[in-house]
Amino acid sequence: MPRQWYNLVADLPHPMLPPLGPDGKPVNPEMLSKVFPMNLIEQEVSSKRWIDIPEEILEILYRWRPTPLKRAVYLEKFLNTPAHIYYKDESVSPAGSHKPNTAVPQAWYNKKFGIKKIVTETGAGQWGSAMAFACNLVGLECKVYMVRISFDQKPFRKTMMQIWGAKCIASPSNETNAGREILKRMPDTPGSLGIAISEAVEEAVMDSTGSSRYALGSVLNHVLLHQTIIGLEAKKQLKLFNEKNPDIVIGCVGGGSNFAGIAFPFVYDKINGSNINIIPVEPKACPSITRGSFAYDFGDTAGMTPLLPMFTLGHNFIPKPIHAGGLRYHGMAPLVSQAVKEGLMEPKAYDQLKCYEAALTWARTEGTICAPETSHAIACVIDEALKAKNEAKEKTILFNYSGHGLLDLKGYENYLSGNLTEYSLPENDLKESLESIKNFPKI
Ligand SMILES: *Cc1c(COP(=O)(O)O)cnc(C)c1O
Repeated sequence: MPRQWYNLVADLPHPMLPPLGPDGKPVNPEMLSKVFPMNLIEQEVSSKRWIDIPEEILEILYRWRPTPLKRAVYLEKFLNTPAHIYYKDESVSPAGSHKPNTAVPQAWYNKKFGIKKIVTETGAGQWGSAMAFACNLVGLECKVYMVRISFDQKPFRKTMMQIWGAKCIASPSNETNAGREILKRMPDTPGSLGIAISEAVEEAVMDSTGSSRYALGSVLNHVLLHQTIIGLEAKKQLKLFNEKNPDIVIGCVGGGSNFAGIAFPFVYDKINGSNINIIPVEPKACPSITRGSFAYDFGDTAGMTPLLPMFTLGHNFIPKPIHAGGLRYHGMAPLVSQAVKEGLMEPKAYDQLKCYEAALTWARTEGTICAPETSHAIACVIDEALKAKNEAKEKTILFNYSGHGLLDLKGYENYLSGNLTEYSLPENDLKESLESIKNFPKI
């Protein structure tokens, strides 16, 4: 197992832009200290290339890491492609996705700092269950605001959180000012990650004892940092396969963390001259990188977070309730955003129907049932493998199998019974949503 995480900040051709406070000036670490513990803030602002993984964290990760690197030989045969398709199987973690890779270190650093309780949000329920799992192991209380639509569609994710001892409530809720405000205006809202983040941050910073902090499952630099263990392991494992460095690296993107995890160690190679095509794949219903603006915007709906430099659809954007709940976020990690801006990546957007079709092809060849989020990566893998066939090139494709879909069967059921439709974000909705940030500081 790798002993250090890789920090892309050290190698980007241009320095990262700082997050800004409400006054338009860069935030200093002190201002974030009510939200995150200082040891994680230090990671957030670090520009060191390699950061040691504490031994106690490795001890916990050994439960499922290193995750297998597998070759998708049955899919290759089915597609009759000369491409070699490899994937990191992050679905083998206790929570069923890559998310515990950062939940564990975040819980550990909070505990180390003397924090007693973590408050967080969850979209599809993956992050909430990962955080519940991690808090239970290190001995922290855990409360999760879960986006209403997923709370209703995925009741078993809530049960998982309860099994690991966490408290889970539907967002928007009546427990916070942010939640009550939204419910007054939109009583029937399906909720959104942006709203749930507002609620969780509010509860964490309002704790008068000062012993609660907030935790985010994606987007921020330290989260992406923790996920790089995926790509670092993959590099070592490809060597064991006697395989060359990949020609193509693919991951689905919501906030950008699993993609960054597999891709950043290869972005390092690309910056140093390797010819690699690195593809983040997002849903057409929530196309932050392919159609959003690269601008300063809030990470949440109520505007409690600093302004982040990122691709965004506007912080008021409430995506249509597609089934890939984990990809329904208005923004994109600043690190991924900047890497796209620097020309290091080639983002693509896929429709949910095409993704479910790819998920079925996968299940009927490789056998496993993927998360609806992961199906976006698989749809792109299939396209690239067919392209390699047309070009008669033996390309090596690596992708991240971010999670299993065994608690997402409702979406599959809707697809199989023909109840899902194609949906791209209408241009007018995008324009309207971007209005909300037009007076923000410009990049
Ligand atoms: C949360 C989640 C995602 C999306 O989040 P990222 O931060 O973009 O990785 C993708 N796949 C699965 C299985 C998830 O749980």
